Parts: sequence; structure tokens; C-alpha cells
Amino acid sequence: MLDSDFFHRWMTATAVAVDREAGRLTELDSAIGDADHGSNLRRGFAAVTAVLDEDTPQTPGALLALAGRQLIATVGGASGPLYGTLLRRTGKALGDAAEVTPGQLAEAFGAGVAAVGKLGGAQAGDKTMLDALLPAAQALGESFAAAREAAEAGALATVALRARKGRASYLGERSIGHQDPGATSAALLVAALTEAGAA
Ligand code: ADP
Ligand code: MG
Ligand code: MG
Repeated sequence: MLDSDFFHRWMTATAVAVDREAGRLTELDSAIGDADHGSNLRRGFAAVTAVLDEDTPQTPGALLALAGRQLIATVGGASGPLYGTLLRRTGKALGDAAEVTPGQLAEAFGAGVAAVGKLGGAQAGDKTMLDALLPAAQALGESFAAAREAAEAGALATVALRARKGRASYLGERSIGHQDPGATSAALLVAALTEAGAA
């Protein structure tokens, strides 16, 4: 069973990974965007861990909802509302249970990813964070490790894609050949599940 401590560890592990990889995320965003993805997410997840460390909600649902609100409040770029929606919607789907099963998390995460698609209007293959999140949501029912592998493969596969949403889409054909920053950070978020605990 996954309790609020597990979700707290997930957010902390994500913040650590984002902090470690911020330079790379910004470098990827400098190729096809405006060179702020690493700093955007570093600021956002630092704020998430700060608020969670101060006052940890006692249910997984409330914890993810608070984390999502914090991201929306602190990240100005497109990724703030998108990741914020992912966490808020996932949290909402978990309801007010004190503990959830990995299967319930997989289902809730699927709802969160669907909400990201609805908010941003992107689909699989548009070279966005969804190209890591959608395969991860599919694989999450199997295991955290499978979700991690699916997200990393999805992020790598964005290199060959042409961007159809977000800033990178302004580049048209020139967006091909570069890995999408948001898909790369989404793989960090999913990989952090394996660091937070075994499924
Ligand atoms: P901004 O583009 O506003 O500077 P960021 O650099 O923080 O924001 O985030 C860029 C990432 O957001 C992209 O690499 C992409 O993965 C994701 N993104 C942008 N627009 C969309 C969208 N409409 N749907 C899904 N993801 C998107
Ligand atoms: Mg950017
Ligand atoms: Mg920006």
C-alpha cells in the first residue's frame, strides 16, 4: 500500500532529480524553446517540497493536490499548469483514502495524464511531455520499473518527432532531431517513483 509518506518521497525524489538535471533540461529547451525548462521546474519542485515539508497532508490525494497547486502557482511556463494539472487530477482520482494500491495509482495517473492532454490539446506523437507520460501510464499497471522504462523510451523517441504543440512547434521541421525537454522531465518524474519505493 502507498501512503502519504510514499507520495511525499516521490515529490522529494522528483525535486532532487530535477535539480540534478536542470542544466540538461534547460539545454534541451534552448535548442527548441526558450531555455527555461530546467529553471522553471527547479523553482516549482523546490516550492513543492518546501510546502510539503512544512505541512504534510495526511492522504495521498490531498498531498498530490497541494503539490499540483504549488506548481501552478510557482511555474510561469507552459509546464507549470500542465504538471500541476497532472498532479491535481491524479490526486483527485485517488479520493480521500489514507493508503492506495499501486493499481489505484496507475488508474489515477491515467486520469491525470488524460487531463494534461485535454488542457494542452496535445496527442501522442506531438513531441510533448505526453510522449513520455502516455506510455508510462500504460505501463504503470505492470510496475514502477516498467513505467520508468516506458517513459525513458518515450522521451528518447521524441528526437525523431516534429513538434506540433508548444513553443517548439514554431520551429516546424527544425524541431526534428532534438529531444523534447518536457518529455525528458516527465521521465524524471516517473523514474522518481522507483526511488520512492517498491511497487
Ligand atoms: P515554456 O514553453 O512556456 O517555456 P517550459 O519550457 O517549462 O514552458 O515547458 C516546455 C515543455 O512543455 C515542452 O517541452 C513540452 O513537453 C511541454 N508542452 C508545451 N506545450 C504543451 C502542450 N500543449 N501539451 C503538452 N505539453 C506541452
Ligand atoms: Mg521553455
Ligand atoms: Mg518559458
